[in-house]
Amino acid sequence: MLINQLRQIAQSTLDVFYPNQCEICSSDLNFNEQYICLKCSYDLPYLSNLSTQTESLNKLFWGRVDVHQVYSLFNYQKGNQVQDLLHLIKYQKKTKLAEHLGERLAEEIPKSGLDMIIPIPLHPKKLRKRGFNQSTLIARGIHKRLQVPINEKLVKRVKHNPSQTTVSKYDRWENVRSIFDVSDHEKLKNKHLLIVDDVLTTGATIEACVKQLIGIEGCKVSIATLAARI
Ligand SMILES: [Zn+2]
Repeated sequence: MLINQLRQIAQSTLDVFYPNQCEICSSDLNFNEQYICLKCSYDLPYLSNLSTQTESLNKLFWGRVDVHQVYSLFNYQKGNQVQDLLHLIKYQKKTKLAEHLGERLAEEIPKSGLDMIIPIPLHPKKLRKRGFNQSTLIARGIHKRLQVPINEKLVKRVKHNPSQTTVSKYDRWENVRSIFDVSDHEKLKNKHLLIVDDVLTTGATIEACVKQLIGIEGCKVSIATLAARI
């Protein structure tokens, strides 16, 4: 009786850390599978399957802002499985899944030369409402693999999102320029930063963040997202 109870407790503890069903198809996972079964994992649209991956990702910022390198794991399209995965993380609080995917993303990123990982911050109001920042979770997964420190203090979000209503280029720039506030320029001098976000679509938010950073002397920026629309 007691042994059975202990076994149950042990199993439910394990389930918290290693949920035993696939997050996509709900089939039971084998001991060598984590979060996503091998079949679903195989079917995901990996960007690394594209020979033009690196160029396509870097092109997203051409003529906009000077970015050293862009890394992303999946091709994002409306309605594809990747959108479902991102929804699971954001709205169903699949925090361990986010970290796990962050670790997988890290496999695409060379460690050498990176000084700091900066997750795109949420506005404090939004952070309170959601309870976590998905970019921070992904960043933790990357940190686990690369051992590069995460910094969440130097870049703050002071505004929600770029407004969709402004029309002129100047207005748009003024609008995005004030989303982020960078506090201590000295600490960012001559550093190579890795900006982390969940998904890269228009790139407007990331662009606003990068623009605040690359004005700092010797500061270089790379970007890593779980998914990108290319
Ligand atoms: Zn599955």
